[in-house]
Amino acid sequence: MIELRRYVKEVSQGEHDVVDIARKALASAKSIDKEHAYFNTFADERFIEEANAKPKGRLAGVAISVKDCVCVKGVESTAGSDILRGYKPLFDATAVERVWKQGGMIIGKTSQDEFGFGGFSVNIGKGYRVPKNPFDTNRSCGGSSGGAAGMTRKAEFPHLAIGESTGGSITCPAAFCGVVGFCPTYGRVSRWGLIDYANSLDKIGSMAKNVRDAALLIEVMAGSDPQDSTCSDLPVEQFSTVDGDIKGLRVGIIKEAFGEGVDPAVAESVKNATRELEAKGAIIKEISLPLNAKYGIPTYYLIAMCEASTNLAKYGGMRYGAHEKLEGDFNTYFTKVRTAHFGDEAKRRLMLGTFARMAGYRDAYYLRALKLRSALIDEYKSAFKGVDVLASPTMPMVAPTFDEISKLTPLQNYMADILTVGPNVAGLPHISVPVSPAHRMPVGIQLVADHFKESTLVRTGVNLE
Ligand code: GLN
Repeated sequence: MIELRRYVKEVSQGEHDVVDIARKALASAKSIDKEHAYFNTFADERFIEEANAKPKGRLAGVAISVKDCVCVKGVESTAGSDILRGYKPLFDATAVERVWKQGGMIIGKTSQDEFGFGGFSVNIGKGYRVPKNPFDTNRSCGGSSGGAAGMTRKAEFPHLAIGESTGGSITCPAAFCGVVGFCPTYGRVSRWGLIDYANSLDKIGSMAKNVRDAALLIEVMAGSDPQDSTCSDLPVEQFSTVDGDIKGLRVGIIKEAFGEGVDPAVAESVKNATRELEAKGAIIKEISLPLNAKYGIPTYYLIAMCEASTNLAKYGGMRYGAHEKLEGDFNTYFTKVRTAHFGDEAKRRLMLGTFARMAGYRDAYYLRALKLRSALIDEYKSAFKGVDVLASPTMPMVAPTFDEISKLTPLQNYMADILTVGPNVAGLPHISVPVSPAHRMPVGIQLVADHFKESTLVRTGVNLE
């Protein structure tokens, strides 16, 4: 397959028939989708129109798939939920608009857990399809950006994916599907036009077959946006082109991430990758993050569910989302709509999140979680005084089979996120890069850097390719 940057350059010089490439890409994506269910919606018309418009710029002629929770003008955008079925935004999310302005062509909306509620893309909305792992269709793609990761692996045409992570939804599926997943610092990329899961945690990011391509997409999407006051106005460096010199770079191996509960074969692949970094001049140290190991999961899930339960309150059949025949009082009507159109996991989270915010419980749960969040951030901040990057497996296992997943309790489901929730709670940039496989399935190493140090992730990551 042609290298993405070379292809973009050639497109800009008019060396390719982009319309023909787009037609073939669309046909290929549709045929992959039949077996693997990576898309909720294709953007046929818009995609071909964009190809016809002689795309120019840093992503000229590249097919861009967009996670369903990110709004695309004129294309059904539902965050994988039946409650938003039929919703066609009147505007592009800032991230999408910037990609389009650089010649990226929107091919469609990728499948995900409903509103991002999951790590295996099996908690899908009513009537949606579960995406299948590109290496073994009996296994999960990971989630919640499952379709994005699967498509990134399978695409044989120039393609990049826009993903989104609240607590690991970019690096988890990237690790399970053998691609690079890049989640920037919280606030690097505008959330304008993102269908919220949890506002203080949500980040738009990217997936690609290699580190520099994933970084390029972030670079294009990043930067201040008057539409999102939480979006940082720090200048966006050209981190996709930094050199790969890691002499003297201090890499901290997270001690707790290689012990109990982590598949030894996965741990071994990741350890080997850190030895490669050492061979190229990095200084490897062991580092302990006990608070994150102990409190990462409860802190994340409390905050995420509390925020989700307020965000989803707007889908009540009045202003947003599905409607039903107007009958009964407000509570009866509201309950009817939500009973009919939310999936089981969404309902579970609404109940837990609402409970944890209730008068009388708020101090015990939500406010405590907020305090813990500060403590977890402090723990990372002191770690970054001694190291430049932290390394761990991305997930404690390889992609599980659907049968294995069906036997997990909700709590066991949540526990699978033990290694990804930390950087997400702390808003730190992180990346998953494929290392050698285990059990003949892909394994990812997760690298975490200090806030706004995306360039360090690229510098380190390219050494593992
Ligand atoms: N698995 C985590 C959750 O269910 C993270 C998902 C995400 O990042 N959207 O909340």
